[in-house]
Amino acid sequence: MSDLRDQILALEQTSRELEPDAKARAYVRDKVINYTENFLDNIHDSNVWNESLEKGIGLYDDPVSEHPTGIEKLMESFEENVNAPHLNAASGGHLGYVPGGGLYHSALGDYIADVTNNYAGVFYASPGAVRMENMMIRWMSELVGYPKKAVGNLASGGSIANLTAIVTARDAHQIKGKDYERTVIYASDQMHHCLDKAIRIAGLGEVILRHLPLDDGYRIIPEKLDEIISEDKASGLKPFLVIASAGTTDVGAIDPLEDIGVIAKKHNLWYHIDGAYGAFFALLEEGKKKLKGIEMSDSLVMDPHKGLFLPYGLGVVLVKEAKFMLESHHYQANYMQDARDAGDEYSPADLSPELTKHFRGLRLWLPLKVHGLIPFRACLQEKLFLARYFREEVGKLPNVEIGPEPDLSITYFHYVPEHGNANEFNEELLNLIRTDGRVFLSSTLLDGKFVIRFACLSFRTHLDRVDLLLTLIKEKIALLEAQFA
Ligand SMILES: *Cc1c(COP(=O)(O)O)cnc(C)c1O
Repeated sequence: MSDLRDQILALEQTSRELEPDAKARAYVRDKVINYTENFLDNIHDSNVWNESLEKGIGLYDDPVSEHPTGIEKLMESFEENVNAPHLNAASGGHLGYVPGGGLYHSALGDYIADVTNNYAGVFYASPGAVRMENMMIRWMSELVGYPKKAVGNLASGGSIANLTAIVTARDAHQIKGKDYERTVIYASDQMHHCLDKAIRIAGLGEVILRHLPLDDGYRIIPEKLDEIISEDKASGLKPFLVIASAGTTDVGAIDPLEDIGVIAKKHNLWYHIDGAYGAFFALLEEGKKKLKGIEMSDSLVMDPHKGLFLPYGLGVVLVKEAKFMLESHHYQANYMQDARDAGDEYSPADLSPELTKHFRGLRLWLPLKVHGLIPFRACLQEKLFLARYFREEVGKLPNVEIGPEPDLSITYFHYVPEHGNANEFNEELLNLIRTDGRVFLSSTLLDGKFVIRFACLSFRTHLDRVDLLLTLIKEKIALLEAQFA
């Protein structure tokens, strides 16, 4: 017996290394804080893109082993192998894809969440954590005009949030395997690809997916939608779901949300809106007008790690009718019997595929409360104006074609060169801008045309960066024209 006690005590000595004392904590904390402070102090002057040949391969030189490595060495390796190579997604020079953010107070929220390790999955364990998450969901519901009784979930990102919505829609309409041949989903080919993925993961890969005709601004044409649904019904098919975008990824277009809502209701379809990029523009009067009809949807996705500038790791799904979300996600088990007391709040575990989860509410609550909403609204308005300004200014350059007036903060341009292949020229132009390192743009193909996108959503992007970009574009065009001539 005492033998076992001795062994346990011996192990305890070593296992206690996992619990650093105050002095040891201060030591690592200082190193980490020095590192992050240095990162933030320099972020305005650091490159957004650092070309790297090694691409972080050096990490493998120091594999996980039995023995500890000093924090100094680890931070050095992190900087060299992880932080430095390629895209600095926290930079204000990030104007590609849909930029993210990295609000500092979110990082502190995560820090508190991780140190205290509150269990935010079920009300029974941490009613306050669950209330905080539900309070954030109610705030977002109110923002988009959803009713008070709407529910939702703080997921890891827009893709998972969209998946949760599609699964909920599937079950709400009781779509079964035997129905697949006849079941129809309506969407635009400008829909984000995570929804194609979600449809398949939800087991709906075999249903009919109709890509709808689009107008000049890449928006769904509601009359066509109405016609196609009617034809499908007449031929014995089962229209099930229509998906619209509140801000597409390619060009930032908002589908006619209200008109689509009326048609969805008329034909009894589930109406899902993907607002991962655009929905938080509802914080502006201008955005509210443009997003009119968003409240008619049955489910909606919005990404705080885009439109509220949070660090990566938070996408939200809202569902108007609680019963549908519960039907798909509420399960019980014997070992959970003590946790059944749901109190007066839904638990995240009953509304999502997750049980144990990161306490994501805190990373949203803290910055919103510390800053108040005023700077968030200003920042979103600034992004809208910057996109308008950029489009106007780039359009003044000779031989530059621009897209239509942007709905939100994404716009694009295409240079028509004096000589040579236009697509190749634009691709080369994009490469030259990227390798300069100070501004990061991305591209897309619109009807076969290679266009360069300007997607403005980082809270660190301001007028000086956009002016720098305009100068760069002029410079690089001149350089390439000289080469191609
Ligand atoms: C970013 C985005 C997504 C995917 O969200 P993630 O958070 O990247 O998973 C979906 N739809 C739209 C419109 C997006 O912009």
